[in-house]
Amino acid sequence: MESITHPTLDWTTYRNIMNGKLTTTAETRHGINPATGQENPTVPVSTKEDVEQAMKAAKEASKVWATTPYTERQKALLAYADALEAESQAFSDMLAREQGKPMQFAKMELDLSVQWLRGIAELELPVQKIEDDNSDRTIIVRYTPLGVAVGIVPWNYPILLAVGKIAPAVVTGNAIIIKPSPFTPYGGLKLIELAQSFFPPGVVQALSGDDNLGPWLTSHPTPAKISFTGSTFTGKKVMESASKTLKRVTLELGGKDPAIVCEDVNIDEVAPQIAQLAFLNSGQICIALKRIFVHEKIFDEFKAALIKATNRLKVGEANEPDVFLGPIQNKMQYERVKGFYEEVRAEKYNVVAGGETPTGPGYFLTPTIVDRPPLDSRLVVEEPFGPIVPLLSYSSYDEAVDLANNTLYGLGASIWSGSVERANELATRIEAGNVWVNTHFELDPRAPFGGHKESGIGTEWGVGGLVSYCNSQTLFLKKSKM
Ligand code: NAD
Repeated sequence: MESITHPTLDWTTYRNIMNGKLTTTAETRHGINPATGQENPTVPVSTKEDVEQAMKAAKEASKVWATTPYTERQKALLAYADALEAESQAFSDMLAREQGKPMQFAKMELDLSVQWLRGIAELELPVQKIEDDNSDRTIIVRYTPLGVAVGIVPWNYPILLAVGKIAPAVVTGNAIIIKPSPFTPYGGLKLIELAQSFFPPGVVQALSGDDNLGPWLTSHPTPAKISFTGSTFTGKKVMESASKTLKRVTLELGGKDPAIVCEDVNIDEVAPQIAQLAFLNSGQICIALKRIFVHEKIFDEFKAALIKATNRLKVGEANEPDVFLGPIQNKMQYERVKGFYEEVRAEKYNVVAGGETPTGPGYFLTPTIVDRPPLDSRLVVEEPFGPIVPLLSYSSYDEAVDLANNTLYGLGASIWSGSVERANELATRIEAGNVWVNTHFELDPRAPFGGHKESGIGTEWGVGGLVSYCNSQTLFLKKSKM
């Protein structure tokens, strides 16, 4: 075991962080750079024994941390944010190398991560007075920490989504164990290593591992809560496992976000934004635009502008200038997304932009638009989580709302219109946790984020996100002596 003494991070070795110490395992594995296929450094493959030790440390640490004043916990989080900001270039470099995202977006993820730490640190946990008049009692509702939480993170935004779990967990007085995705473990481990300078041992820990690790964590009796971000398929397994000991769950799952483009938009302004919002992060975003519905009156003109904007988006390695789309993050996902391209070709759907699946090295795919595939095709119904999107038409706003809501998902949606009144009215009819007008993908650490239907359970961030790491406790306090 190595003690964590160095103030700056060593970006050559990657360790678990358990009870304030860097530890490794007999077995190791490694991720790859998805743009080149080159191996990244080795990372630990945690064992069941590591899980036991981390749980024990978390349980002990959570007892003391829960009694630390809220203001002290806020200060620790703010100091952590400053440290992350100071290290953000090194984190961005590693993020580009392990995740594949273009450097400009890697930097953006780091900026957002710092903003999220600060924004969540500044939130106040509510204390609600239900009754405090002249009667003989006061009724207060307060929120107490749950104890130990587990945060399970996917590979598309490995730093931001880890931060979005650490911040609310620790500021409300919990300990948290982070499990990064095996595809992107590097920045996540360093993020937790960095945290050791600001939180007592055991409060923030990280375990890297293989496919066994997630189920070991979710089935362990110690955690009171699992905060999971990932696919709907895995989210259901997490919930099933958590149900054995009635753990609280927050599930941030898949999406199939629609954009409804009204007939009165400024096409030249809106089409490039829609293209970017479909293909940002190579479409590997839960709230990327995954269905584009355009009013039939402007369909052809809008399609032409969308194709033009899409063809301008450059695909390449993270450090090449002006790159907008990096590679697909991993081989499994690449093969899955390629399946959509192959199906579209086999079915002879009308591919109006992209469609190429270049051969390696690197898991690159070109941004692809498919003109009006059948509404029951896999591309319209499922979440490809890659740079391929169906362009669809509608003839009335009622139809547009019905089409937009015709999905098992309900994460995000946007309405684009020259009439804000019309757009705002349509927005209220959408079944989704996040609805935007004339924008998409705008987020805020003060605002709750979550999905309807099979896009998830509960919300993260905002005051609701804080409360989700707490038990609600109602106090009936007498004013008179007995
Ligand atoms: P995934 O479900 O395959 O994996 C997510 C995490 O769960 C990884 O850390 C993985 O190792 C772990 N895991 C796998 N099996 C597990 C199990 N049985 N028990 C516990 N943990 C397990 O998802 P992914 O491919 O990494 O991410 C892509 C998906 O995530 C997409 O569907 C996307 O829409 C969704 N996503 C949702 C949000 C959101 O906030 N709603 C954000 C980002 C991504």
